[in-house]
Amino acid sequence: MAGSGRSIEALNVNYGCRLECEACEKYFDCESPEKENIYERGRMRRVRQNLAPIKYKVAVMSGKGGVGKSSVTAALAMGLAQRGAKVGVVDQDFDGPCIPRMLGVLGDTMQAGDKGIIPVVSKQGIKVVSTGLLPEENDTVITWLHALRRNATEEFLGHTDYGDVDYLLIDMPPGTSSDCVNVLQCLPDLSGAVVVTVPTQVSQGVAKKAILLCRKAGVPVLGVVENMSGYVCLHCGREVQPLLSGGGEALAAEMGVPFWGRIPIDARLGESMDRGQPFLELFPDSPAVQTVMRLVANLQAAMEG
Ligand code: ADP
Repeated sequence: MAGSGRSIEALNVNYGCRLECEACEKYFDCESPEKENIYERGRMRRVRQNLAPIKYKVAVMSGKGGVGKSSVTAALAMGLAQRGAKVGVVDQDFDGPCIPRMLGVLGDTMQAGDKGIIPVVSKQGIKVVSTGLLPEENDTVITWLHALRRNATEEFLGHTDYGDVDYLLIDMPPGTSSDCVNVLQCLPDLSGAVVVTVPTQVSQGVAKKAILLCRKAGVPVLGVVENMSGYVCLHCGREVQPLLSGGGEALAAEMGVPFWGRIPIDARLGESMDRGQPFLELFPDSPAVQTVMRLVANLQAAMEG
């Protein structure tokens, strides 16, 4: 019966400190200076060293899946490459890796070289690392649990030969799960995060949690993007809002972070991403592409000043 139960104060997850910081669920809440030692130990140190030459490391996050996080990552990567930046994308969405298809490298496989994993390079020169580029990925489903997932994150970040890259975009796992926390913990020098939502309050409410996680982890939120924000009807020419409008802007205002813009629904975007075609080059006049290029300019301004 509503209102008759006792409220849950906290779940019993306080096991006491055993200095196992890498695996601690209170890592971002902990104020002990000891925790910084994880970056001096083995693989975490290697991650830090490996990514140190990369100028800008930017996570693309969302609350819910299916809101266009990977599409925004791929579009930002293409836009940055189009503007002359050297770009890498690491796909941390292990269970639903879409980046290889969207960037037109599906079917290729990553190889191992002397300096670790060799990313697959797209036609636009974007270096791609993804579980979708493991041999026979299409015929398998990844059923890794905790430690293995953490290992894979560390491998992708610490044992990959990124070479000369200006921007490393990280397509984050959806939501604020332990996978997401793993990535944030491995990347203490993340330059910032872009948060993608669709206009509905359901998506907005969950995207807010991604922003709260960024705050906890000390990651600056660079901007909120409202994707699937209306479309122009091909028959009557009027703008239609199947998922309402304004949720992204409301979220940005509530959380006091910049609002970067609205990407409308555009069937050509979905189709290009399916086919791994360079949407930005093919349809430069599309309002979706124009917004994406504004997002790219915003990102470059935030990073390069
Ligand atoms: P997520 O990474 O959040 O799970 P995706 O980027 O994979 O979401 O997008 C889900 C699907 O929606 C993909 O097929 C993608 O091409 C399509 N899509 C995303 N944004 C748009 C848009 N603005 N217009 C048309 N299709 C879109």
